[in-house]
Amino acid sequence: MPIANCKRCGRLFNKIRRDICPACVAEEDKAFDIVRQYLREHRDATMAQVSEETGVGVDLIISMIQDGRLMLRDNPNLHYPCERCGKPTRAGRFCPACTKELSAGLGAAARELRKKAEQTDSQGRGYYSRG
Ligand SMILES: [Zn+2]
Ligand SMILES: [Zn+2]
Repeated sequence: MPIANCKRCGRLFNKIRRDICPACVAEEDKAFDIVRQYLREHRDATMAQVSEETGVGVDLIISMIQDGRLMLRDNPNLHYPCERCGKPTRAGRFCPACTKELSAGLGAAARELRKKAEQTDSQGRGYYSRG
């Protein structure tokens, strides 16, 4: 069983499928229920409002949405900045425009990275192995 540090509280735990410990999973589940319940009753709440009223951190609320656990269908005022351009986003890490651009650019970026890695690698090897 792999042992890992909980991403949230830093405690050591047996990592089964998530990167946080069972105690934190339970806590997040509770927070999720509170947020979901709040959103059901306050459909026009904003992110700041939800966080303030439920006591659940904005980061955690955003990660619930990004994970697809929390749906914003009925909450038009709830959004968070796209990680790339900062535009209001309501699902995933990026806004729809960036998602499209990124998937198009992904191939090119990967090629570029590989080229760089190869360059560094061959330079390093040349320096140490020759002589
Ligand atoms: Zn934990
Ligand atoms: Zn964007």
